[in-house]
Amino acid sequence: MSLEITHQTFADRPDAAEIDLTGTMEIADVEFFQSQIMDFINDGHVHLIFDCAALESMDSMGLGSMAYIRKTLDVKGGDMKFQNLSDSIKNMFINLGFGDFLDESAFPMAVVCLQCGRKLKCPGHGRFRCPECKNILVI
Ligand SMILES: [Zn+2]
Repeated sequence: MSLEITHQTFADRPDAAEIDLTGTMEIADVEFFQSQIMDFINDGHVHLIFDCAALESMDSMGLGSMAYIRKTLDVKGGDMKFQNLSDSIKNMFINLGFGDFLDESAFPMAVVCLQCGRKLKCPGHGRFRCPECKNILVI
């Protein structure tokens, strides 16, 4: 499986784009992903909504690429949001310290501590300590 990227733009919001991700976003997909998204950004679409309903998996390279895209958007005064992320990808964001990628509307949210496997309920953004193993989650 690999990554497929489709997108739509909005006549009344030329600076925005919705990007639908299908498949996997892993080390082999990252170069393709990044070049496509940089093209959108260079075309002036700096407010990006990633719809991840059909995204099956993401690895740390995929996440690193998202972080790079966000840095680029920050410089250009843009932003990015995610819709329909699977719980496992949400959990990875949180466990790797990228919980602030998640929309406020996602809270309170059930997550699983990557270190001990305990189920936790996160009230919102911030630092959060797992009561079981004391692992710190940044959300
Ligand atoms: Zn834990």
